[in-house]
Amino acid sequence: MSLYDRINKKILFPAYLGITRNVDLGRLAELKKSQYLPPEEIRAIQFASMKRLLAHCYRNVPFYRERFDEAGFHPDDFRGEDDLQRIPTLAKKDLQQERERLIAVNIPRSELIADASGGSTGKPTSFFKDRQRNRLRSADKMRHDMWCGWEPGESYATLWGAQREFDLQPPLKARLVERYLYRAFGFNAFDISEEKVLRCLESLEKVRPSMVVAYANVAYLFARIVKNRGLDLAPLKIKGLVSSAETLTPEKRAAIEEAFATKVFNRYGSREVGLVASECRAGEGMHVNAENVVVEILKDGRPAKPGESGEIVVTDLWNYGMPFVRYRMGDVGVAAGRLCSCGRGLPLIDGVTGRTSDFLIDERGALVHGEYFTHLFYGLPGIEQFQLIQESRDLVTLNVRPGPGYLPAVLDPVLEKIRLCLGGSVRVQVNQVQKSLVEASGKFRFTISRLSNDHFGAATSLSTERP
Ligand SMILES: [Zn+2]
Repeated sequence: MSLYDRINKKILFPAYLGITRNVDLGRLAELKKSQYLPPEEIRAIQFASMKRLLAHCYRNVPFYRERFDEAGFHPDDFRGEDDLQRIPTLAKKDLQQERERLIAVNIPRSELIADASGGSTGKPTSFFKDRQRNRLRSADKMRHDMWCGWEPGESYATLWGAQREFDLQPPLKARLVERYLYRAFGFNAFDISEEKVLRCLESLEKVRPSMVVAYANVAYLFARIVKNRGLDLAPLKIKGLVSSAETLTPEKRAAIEEAFATKVFNRYGSREVGLVASECRAGEGMHVNAENVVVEILKDGRPAKPGESGEIVVTDLWNYGMPFVRYRMGDVGVAAGRLCSCGRGLPLIDGVTGRTSDFLIDERGALVHGEYFTHLFYGLPGIEQFQLIQESRDLVTLNVRPGPGYLPAVLDPVLEKIRLCLGGSVRVQVNQVQKSLVEASGKFRFTISRLSNDHFGAATSLSTERP
């Protein structure tokens, strides 16, 4: 850790948070304690929050009022876990079609922050978060980041998509705050060449990040290059690597841990509901962020038994502006039904699968992470699900499952951006499909490359095998 990091951690960053209140530090202190409460006390906290949320939904959110009435459910009848089954679930389709009716009538629009997700499940959604909730949710993210040994104010590197590419360049002040107070150093996963990876590794040597946060496949790509080049990252002394946004296989985990000479902490969440679950150092499963979300794993509509896999359904306990109650995430997980040896009372879930994407290759041979393409669908109306398939270096198929209000012209800017991203001579053919694009295994791949299964082999410019 650099001298500057030490000063930032002890003085500058706490002072900055004290003034701006961007992260609720009181909440962080509470969460650091409550994680060690016995499971039944955590459940009691969860269900008190759930009851308050349900009462709010019934009073103030037209969509829920109607749904609860139709289902014969009243929040006063909610006594705990067993009553969850009586509450209707919320589908991505509801979000796409009923957005306005999902907004609470008693919360002013000025208190809402608009956000959108291209959806790693290929189903674009747009939604609102309330400001108050955002401060709470930054605290829980910080708690889980700290599990790897990182501390607020220490530098960290992100290997993922740069959202700013889609926005105007953020103002200088925001960039300075990110760099000198949050100590965040980003690498853009939407434009990867071997040269850029090597340059990034060089700058990691200078920055000495305490923690790395990465898309699983980008961390794996780095790991392959580090190994093939015979590089040694052990001197960086990275405390932990947080892998998120896509399925992490045991093979990828092992390769990443070896290359970065640190432990991998798998994490699961979404833009809609924030951080859902993440691993601690014991690595015996992912701890649910239980004071902030309720997670259910449903097998044929009923709660899955320990060891059984099922659909993940999440309730965000704090977004009063636009509540997500029993939101069907479109991913599959396994109910763990056991406690972790670390002593935390937060429940565990296992093996989240469902999100996979392939890198696509542009004209120059650079790789583009699949998430790039999900960003293009942010806020697009009438599209229920999409999937992009790279058939060859000059042909891409876009499968689109249309929803109500779909107009083909809505895709024009998306097609243009795909062409710009992959290179001018690439053709994009649009295919309208009526069936769900989820595979029989429950997996959904929002980008598929038919070019090569091994993006790090001789078929790409990232071939780094030494003779
Ligand atoms: Zn644990």
